[in-house]
Amino acid sequence: MVKIIRTDDTPYPDRKRAACRNSDLDFHADDAATQWLAKRVCSRCSEIEKCLAYALVNEPYGVWGGLTEAERRKLKRRIARVMCPGCSSVDILEADGGEVCLACGLSWNV
Ligand code: SF4
Ligand SMILES: [Zn+2]
Repeated sequence: MVKIIRTDDTPYPDRKRAACRNSDLDFHADDAATQWLAKRVCSRCSEIEKCLAYALVNEPYGVWGGLTEAERRKLKRRIARVMCPGCSSVDILEADGGEVCLACGLSWNV
């Protein structure tokens, strides 16, 4: 569940800590079996949250942050749906029964 999304906080994952740095897998492969194996590598990676945040903004192709490109497109559509109706910010905090915009303070029920 995405709690807070900040588009200005998208550092590149630390290559030294990346679980994929010694992997022979093709993280841009099209076949589901290889993608599944890549996602397993990501699941052991300490950089997964930072990687996913970076990839949502910067990487349209391949497995990044534990998600395939199709899964990231789906997540991005979901993120777009939680954009603030007042100021269009995506700095949204999920609260009890609703959401609050961290940029302008507007809140609404979901
Ligand atoms: S989350 Fe996956 S793609 Fe991203 S750095 Fe870690 S292993 Fe590599
Ligand atoms: Zn707002």
